[in-house]
Amino acid sequence: MTEDHPVEALFAELVGQPAVVQTLRAAARHPVHAYLFKGPPGSGTRVAARAFAAALLCPDGGCAVCWTCRRALAGTHPDLVSVERTGAALGIDDARRLVLLAQRRPFEAARQVLVVGDVHLALRSAPALLKTVEEPPPATVFVLLAEDIPSELVTVASRCVEVTFPPVPSAAVEAWLRAQGIDARQAAVVAAGSGGDLDRAHLLAHDAGYAGRLELWRSVPSRLNGEGGVAGGLARDLLQSIDGALVPLREQHGAELAELAEQAESLGERAVPGRRDVVERQHRAERRWRTDELRAGLGILARAYRDRLGPADETLDARTLAQCERAVALITEAAASLEHNPNETLLLESLLVRL
Ligand SMILES: [Zn+2]
Repeated sequence: MTEDHPVEALFAELVGQPAVVQTLRAAARHPVHAYLFKGPPGSGTRVAARAFAAALLCPDGGCAVCWTCRRALAGTHPDLVSVERTGAALGIDDARRLVLLAQRRPFEAARQVLVVGDVHLALRSAPALLKTVEEPPPATVFVLLAEDIPSELVTVASRCVEVTFPPVPSAAVEAWLRAQGIDARQAAVVAAGSGGDLDRAHLLAHDAGYAGRLELWRSVPSRLNGEGGVAGGLARDLLQSIDGALVPLREQHGAELAELAEQAESLGERAVPGRRDVVERQHRAERRWRTDELRAGLGILARAYRDRLGPADETLDARTLAQCERAVALITEAAASLEHNPNETLLLESLLVRL
């Protein structure tokens, strides 16, 4: 039956992941009890989880149009249960809730689908998670979502069928932005700086300062003149522009806190429960955003040097060519070192001085 359905319609919201769609289509025909969707932020694991759940709950194997499918896709089907962390990490309390939910009988469908978000943050609750996933109630299918697999979670992961989500290809991000009415030029620029992360692409597309930051990075090669003072000043300008880039995200976070405060008040609570954890998570997201911005900026800088190496330009002398090649190598090295949370000011200053 399943083969006859336009299953692509079911995965219409999943951007740029054709291999994943194929895997999940096949998996839905003969589901096992636990899946692990592994992919970086903005790669679509949550969207995919809903579509996959629809395929598992729909009496027709995921027709995309019935009442079951539509509710699953909207995240409102009673047999699609999402467990998201209540604090900064998926803690013991969340794991307890998960154990109870896993024992529950499905309301309507033949099975229930339990989607667990941010499993890479479930370090302390890994043992509880493992126990649940290892001894699954017969009517429950787990879909665990994780950005990566820390060592604490290797055993949990080994009990699941792993589905890997690569970053969304730039062309797919671009088409997705254009479909939302973003103009062609901006869509191309934002897609190139998105790192295959749709959430980041969405924020950048609505960030008025983005074009200016790009221009600043592009202008670096022509502004460096071998003087340390100039390199230092430029490094400060670049870092300041990254601070500016955080404004939209900080606004989003402020709105989130305000909403939580309003909810708490309407429930008669004096303070937002778990506020500290929320703030901590927001800070982490802001740090990650800074690193992403810096990495994207270094990418633009490397491209600016690489463009000078283009085959079209035969006027370059051998010395300039060698300089450009060396510059690209230095930038690539600096970008790779971002993994180790370096001091950004020092990193950028020393890079620009050497360039
Ligand atoms: Zn259906």
